[in-house]
Amino acid sequence: MRGTIIHGPRDVRLEERPDPTIVDPTDAVIRTVAACVCGSDLWRYRGIQEVTRPTPIGHEYVGVVEEVGPAVTSVRPGQFVVGGFLTSDNTCPVCRAGAHANCQHGGGYDGCQAELIRVRNADGTLLATPEQPSEDLVPSLLALSDVMCTGWHAAVCADVRPGGTVVVVGDGAVGLSGVLAAAELGAGRIIAMSRHADRQAIAREFGATDVVAERGDAGVEAVKELTNGIGADSVLECVGTDESVVQALRSARPGGMVGWVGVPHVTDLPQEHMFWKNVGLRGGPAPVRAYLPDLLQRVWDRGIDPGKVFDLTLPLSEVAEAYAAMDERRAIKALLRP
Ligand SMILES: [Zn+2]
Ligand SMILES: [Zn+2]
Repeated sequence: MRGTIIHGPRDVRLEERPDPTIVDPTDAVIRTVAACVCGSDLWRYRGIQEVTRPTPIGHEYVGVVEEVGPAVTSVRPGQFVVGGFLTSDNTCPVCRAGAHANCQHGGGYDGCQAELIRVRNADGTLLATPEQPSEDLVPSLLALSDVMCTGWHAAVCADVRPGGTVVVVGDGAVGLSGVLAAAELGAGRIIAMSRHADRQAIAREFGATDVVAERGDAGVEAVKELTNGIGADSVLECVGTDESVVQALRSARPGGMVGWVGVPHVTDLPQEHMFWKNVGLRGGPAPVRAYLPDLLQRVWDRGIDPGKVFDLTLPLSEVAEAYAAMDERRAIKALLRP
């Protein structure tokens, strides 16, 4: 089969790799229907995170079950499945508490931007759709494997409530998904911080009531003007840089909550915007399997269309172009078809 390997900064290649097989009885092998490039893949692509040797890459996918191990009971060959970006058993005490991203027996993947994928912990990771989805649902189902669940997690961690005020820092695919999550959770005012017209348009489609293009002090002032002069009840931090985290903390009202889900590359947390303002900070990798049943139903019922974040579709053979387009911000998020 063919799979994507990252060799170093700005060097990803589709290469011939051995077909994955069932190793553990709890494994499944999936034939990929669609996969995509994640913002977090770009940390390595840009050389911010070192690549020490050629490494299979990719962790977002949907596909059809090809084969299952003897212990797998919840999915069977032929079913269309969505899986999260980390595997989980869905049975350990951590999973039972809803924190599947930290499952005691969980882990990552060996490259999902590929034609075939070995999924460990298949029962606790994969969720089958009620029947084969129509083609137009595939992007939104794919969005559930990471970005939509991550945006949802940001909103949950930020304690978004019906009628509440929300700021979303970051207009990438996760930030836009966070806007959609806040809208679904009933927020009254959703302020998207974005400087790009195309992303602002999707944010509005997803439920943003206001857009703030300014950053830094001007951004904080603009948020305060829209929130009775005090800042937002809930802030979703969907970038992960020093600047974006400070922007998020400063956009929260006293006693407000920040949900952070952008993989943090942060050196310092400014106490003056936290402790002295009673502002909370909570978040981390999303427990995808905890949110999947609910979000899959919303997609299946066509209540939400998170797949709108994919503005570029390419064959898997052009994976290098998918990375380049996202790196150069020519695309919000690239969908790959084997
Ligand atoms: Zn991802
Ligand atoms: Zn677990």
